[in-house]
Amino acid sequence: MGVPAVSDLLDIARAARERSYSPYSGFAVGAAIRLTDGTTVSAANVENASYGLSMCAERSAVFKLIAERGTPSGDHGMVEIAIAGDPGTAAYPCGACRQVISEFASHIKVILESGDDAIEMTMDELFPHPFELDNKDTNGGD
Ligand SMILES: [Zn+2]
Repeated sequence: MGVPAVSDLLDIARAARERSYSPYSGFAVGAAIRLTDGTTVSAANVENASYGLSMCAERSAVFKLIAERGTPSGDHGMVEIAIAGDPGTAAYPCGACRQVISEFASHIKVILESGDDAIEMTMDELFPHPFELDNKDTNGGD
């Protein structure tokens, strides 16, 4: 099994979007993270009748990865994250997701579905000034 290309990673994000539980907003999102070993982790947004309890696809994917595989160093092995929202429209991550992605994978490439094309950007471009605690224990992060 080879390393998936950008379009393949977007296909995985689109497949995850199909598993979205978003009856309240009607805004289904899927996210897929490719790791250095070529494997992927994907997730969809999951909403709740108590709106504030809903969770975005991007954070779900990051938390799933950390919860399943622990916290190895170096961006936790995350190379790219593809995000697929409404087909044809780029779904930029919300501020909370940008903060979480930045803490665990500050060098990750972000790929947004956008019609036939994809928008690619760095976390520095997407979220240049993340919140950081001076005394945080990164538990193996960089
Ligand atoms: Zn979000």
